[in-house]
Amino acid sequence: MFQRDRTNEMPCNTFFIQQYCDRCGGELGEQRTISFLTGETLCEVCSLNEDEMSERAREEVTDPTVGRKT
Ligand SMILES: [Zn+2]
Repeated sequence: MFQRDRTNEMPCNTFFIQQYCDRCGGELGEQRTISFLTGETLCEVCSLNEDEMSERAREEVTDPTVGRKT
């Protein structure tokens, strides 16, 4: 699964100071998350939606290197 500790690989310079969700514009609160697909900072709701999206994407794309763009 995804490793939430390794945020140094993410474009997370605004992650801790950002107050609003990049996707829905809602307040982030303490449950903020980085999007694994786009690098956006997401609220809990959008994060859950994205989990579903990435699950669907995994079903469609079987390439094991997908999601590992470094
Ligand atoms: Zn949101």
